[in-house]
Amino acid sequence: MSSSISFLFAAIALLLLLLPSSVFTSAFIFPPPPILNPWLPFQNLSGCHLGDDKPGLARLKNYLQHFGYLPPANFTDAFDDALEAAIRTYQHNFGLNATGELDMPTVDQLMTPRCGVSDFVNGTSTMNGSAALHGRHLYTYFPGVPTWPFWRRNLKYAVTATSAVAIDQAVLKAVFARAFGRWAAATMLTFTETESTADADITLGFYSGAHGDGEPFDGVLGTLAHAFSPTNGRLHFDAAEAWIAEGDVTRASSDVAVDLESVAVHEIGHLLGLGHSSVPDAIMYPALKTRTRKVELESDDVQGIQRLYGSNPSYQGGTEDRTPATSSPETNDGEGAAGCRWPWRVGLILTIAAVGLRLDFALFF
Ligand SMILES: [Zn+2]
Ligand SMILES: [Zn+2]
Repeated sequence: MSSSISFLFAAIALLLLLLPSSVFTSAFIFPPPPILNPWLPFQNLSGCHLGDDKPGLARLKNYLQHFGYLPPANFTDAFDDALEAAIRTYQHNFGLNATGELDMPTVDQLMTPRCGVSDFVNGTSTMNGSAALHGRHLYTYFPGVPTWPFWRRNLKYAVTATSAVAIDQAVLKAVFARAFGRWAAATMLTFTETESTADADITLGFYSGAHGDGEPFDGVLGTLAHAFSPTNGRLHFDAAEAWIAEGDVTRASSDVAVDLESVAVHEIGHLLGLGHSSVPDAIMYPALKTRTRKVELESDDVQGIQRLYGSNPSYQGGTEDRTPATSSPETNDGEGAAGCRWPWRVGLILTIAAVGLRLDFALFF
């Protein structure tokens, strides 16, 4: 009997020893690995070319499809002709050698965090890198050229959905005021903050993962933010990013720090009707490296926005006119064509320049 009791005590003692150990083990010894970049696996594809078959290529095709370089399909891991053509277009857009292969510069660019809005290509790109060689502009518009109509040039914005980030409200509002101010300085647009979402033309907020618009965010890095074309007015930031709202982002301790104002200026460009540009220094270039600040409008951005909304006579920034525009600024009622469609809806714009005339055609599907 005494041996049975001894055995029972021994068993209980052993259980007490093991239980905290197992809890400790699961909670502290093996934490889930942090997700540092959803596109990091692309580095395993370095060197791939036509004819290869490698796990991960299907994922790359999904990426390229998301940003407009491939039509939707059930993708395989085969490096086929369509993938080669898509990579060539992508390289063209980002100023890389158009090899059609996954060389290191291309893989590096693919892994760079970027805006979630499509580059609007489907066989033919509106982000035409070669245009720089011919002195043409590189700014683009959304299919149908949606803009804010002339009777809505004094826009109100509201900062909403900020609970997912630990940024001081006053700091946040100052960042957004500066970002809007950069576009206002170049144009006849004005932007005023309002506390009332119902009263706002534009809303800005932070969201995690899926948030109801069919474009789920992907955690740290990857897609940083997205915005909708006029006159939708919504701008969403990925709450998972290591946002830097004040201080010098280039000296940030985090390797994944992203400058909030830089991204805000870019996304506001979309809210106003600009698409992506191939000019690396342009605000509307789609990618932004970590710990980088880029908030000044480049002349490509200025030309693009002033063609839509006119120029501010007091603007002192660069307005070098590389493009003799012969067409008048286009406006619409803000509700037609692509005005309320998803900005990443794939479209096709052919820009034909001949004898100083430029015609923009927008085809939808
Ligand atoms: Zn963008
Ligand atoms: Zn969204």
